[in-house]
Amino acid sequence: MKNRYLFLGVFATLLFSSCVTIHPDRVIVPNATVPPAMTAAKTPLPAAVPQVPPAPVRSDAKHVVAPGETLGMLGDMYDVPAAAIAAANHLKKKAVLRPGVTLLIPQASPFRSVITLFHNKKWKYIIIHHSATARGDSLAFNGAHLQRGFKGGVGYDFVIDNGTLGKEDGEIEATPRWLKQQDGRHCKASQMNHKAIGICLVGNLNQEKVTERQMASLVYLVNTLRHYYKIPVKKIMGHGQVPGADTDCPGKKFPWDRFFKGLGE
Ligand SMILES: [Zn+2]
Repeated sequence: MKNRYLFLGVFATLLFSSCVTIHPDRVIVPNATVPPAMTAAKTPLPAAVPQVPPAPVRSDAKHVVAPGETLGMLGDMYDVPAAAIAAANHLKKKAVLRPGVTLLIPQASPFRSVITLFHNKKWKYIIIHHSATARGDSLAFNGAHLQRGFKGGVGYDFVIDNGTLGKEDGEIEATPRWLKQQDGRHCKASQMNHKAIGICLVGNLNQEKVTERQMASLVYLVNTLRHYYKIPVKKIMGHGQVPGADTDCPGKKFPWDRFFKGLGE
């Protein structure tokens, strides 16, 4: 089993909108995306053996740049200085990364998702979607949404991957829309694009189940966002539950009971 950590980071990103301020806090949260009970040995270790967690194994990794990602974000994802990633790829320290390009990450730790949070009073709802496709990631949806004429590309704020297109199962991707704190392009009904954070689970949840890791990442992400933006649970809903929306998104198989139970409500 891959050793994964979720990473909650806040970047000092300069934004032009006057209602957005910069929050300098940065919190690292150890991941517990899948309950360890499934793999943990039943026999306890003898008391004499010190139970020190092993240091993460480092090795060179390859990373396909997603839309909106920066060297700083990649540095946090792999626990490698941004300057080292720049040097390994013959890039300038402040280079703007081109989506779809593969970079070498030297001496990378196991991958961790990055969640960036911004002070912003506009976020009042959280809307959950599925992609209604078997495969996908932020890069793929960005291309598809640009083709459909969506200015700004991928219409969601976050994408939670299902292990397809080379992404890790349960990986959380923040889109450029989120990183620039722009309006969404995921739910026109009830004017949600202006006030709701849109999260897309990759998969067709009319036909298949959400993966365990996706579910754990979704619960973690929603809990992080709702606490940060003080969004009450009644304002967390599926696309199809938004008044005026005519869709079965996020799919008939989305486990609502498990989801709300997971939120701790
Ligand atoms: Zn939807």
